[in-house]
Amino acid sequence: MRLVLLGAPGSGKGTQAARLKEYLQIPHISTGDLLRGEVAAGTKLGLEAKEVMARGELVSDDILLGMLEDRLSREDVANGFILDGYPRNLVQAAALDQLLTRIGQPMDYAVQLEVPFDLLVERIAGRAAAEGRSDDNPESVRKRLDVYSNQTAPVIDFYRQQAQLNVVDGVGELDEVFDRIIAAIKPDSDVG
Ligand code: ADP
Repeated sequence: MRLVLLGAPGSGKGTQAARLKEYLQIPHISTGDLLRGEVAAGTKLGLEAKEVMARGELVSDDILLGMLEDRLSREDVANGFILDGYPRNLVQAAALDQLLTRIGQPMDYAVQLEVPFDLLVERIAGRAAAEGRSDDNPESVRKRLDVYSNQTAPVIDFYRQQAQLNVVDGVGELDEVFDRIIAAIKPDSDVG
């Protein structure tokens, strides 16, 4: 099954994706994690991305597409994947669509985790205290939420138009939200 998780920073995408990975036994591909890995390893790409990420802006579409193409060419995605953090704008959505069509593996589901704005801010603040991510400072959080509403929210309509969108209420206990996601994709959760 090929699944893309959509939702604002703090919506719980990463947490739910990690659970879905265990449940569906397919890889979790987080572009944020891939980028943080590059930064930690001090690669050229990581050096380019570091400041942009710290400011809460989007890393270039070219870098992202290259990184994603690499990741999707690995054997472990043969049975599908859970994509988290991509696409983040309409250019990326179109590029992904083309890439998946080219490799004959179209997306099966888009799941949007819906969480009210105030709760997003509260959750990110909690995570900042717990994890100390360098982009969880107030200024960068504001920027990421801005980028989300201006650039990423239109991606939801992209998947709605393709009739692939499932909107899931992201408010509640982790288990509850997880069950809602499973219910949304269940009708054919045995897809490839
Ligand atoms: P969050 O969803 O909490 O903002 P992520 O881990 O998904 O966190 O992303 C962290 C940062 O990595 C983003 O703010 C952005 O700078 C960069 N990034 C991740 N995915 C993408 C993407 N698809 N396009 C551009 N930049 C990205």
